[in-house]
Amino acid sequence: MSGSEIATNLRVVEGRIAAACARAGREPREVTLVAVSKARSGDEIRAAYAAGVRHFGENRVEEAELKILGLQDMARGGGITWHMVGHLQSRKAKRALVFDWVHSVDTIRLAQRLDTLAAETDAWPRILLELNVSGEAAKDGFAAWNDIQVYELTKELQALEALRRVKVYGLMTMAPIVRDPEEARPVFRRLRRIADMFREELLFTSWPELSMGMTDDFEVAIEEGATMVRIGRAVFGPSSY
Ligand SMILES: *Cc1c(COP(=O)(O)O)cnc(C)c1O
Repeated sequence: MSGSEIATNLRVVEGRIAAACARAGREPREVTLVAVSKARSGDEIRAAYAAGVRHFGENRVEEAELKILGLQDMARGGGITWHMVGHLQSRKAKRALVFDWVHSVDTIRLAQRLDTLAAETDAWPRILLELNVSGEAAKDGFAAWNDIQVYELTKELQALEALRRVKVYGLMTMAPIVRDPEEARPVFRRLRRIADMFREELLFTSWPELSMGMTDDFEVAIEEGATMVRIGRAVFGPSSY
């Protein structure tokens, strides 16, 4: 996509975010647009940056490492905040520390491993816990589609209080792919409810962030409380992934 097409797309997405916020009685500044740039070129990322995007999401460590290196000059304009949104294998945990945020922490062990590695490299990673609230078998994330699982999870997550470097900021989920975005609403609502519960039960952090909503469902996610929306196609155009 050309730079002007990306800029136009971006203005449309920002308008849709603002409209969804208005419907929900929220302020647009409460919602961070993370432009998911996986499989997009450095030039496309530069175009989005020029149009005002400062948060980018990638789903593969190797690809992101190269992009982060190649785009280091952007730091002069205030810098890019990089988000890891894809599944993170434990053996790539160390390399994932190039990201400012990891949205996809799906085991306690991975969080602990990031914490240990972060001490070695003097990093202060910000993480979200990915929850599978829909119950789809193919989904990554902590199992949280029934209330017993959430109860067990609440106990399990106490272990995160001992982390020294990694800071837990909230929750992330992927909604099922559905034809009508309304069908995703219960999934977003459930993630929000779980975050509210964690806020009461797990006092070692304040759970401010909810990363939910993609191109096909971000408006519904915002109505349900999303603070980070991860948007690829609506910004960069149709893709081959
Ligand atoms: C690709 C991807 C997105 C963005 O998807 P679009 O439908 O293109 O907006 C968001 N989150 C994750 C985890 C992804 O892998």
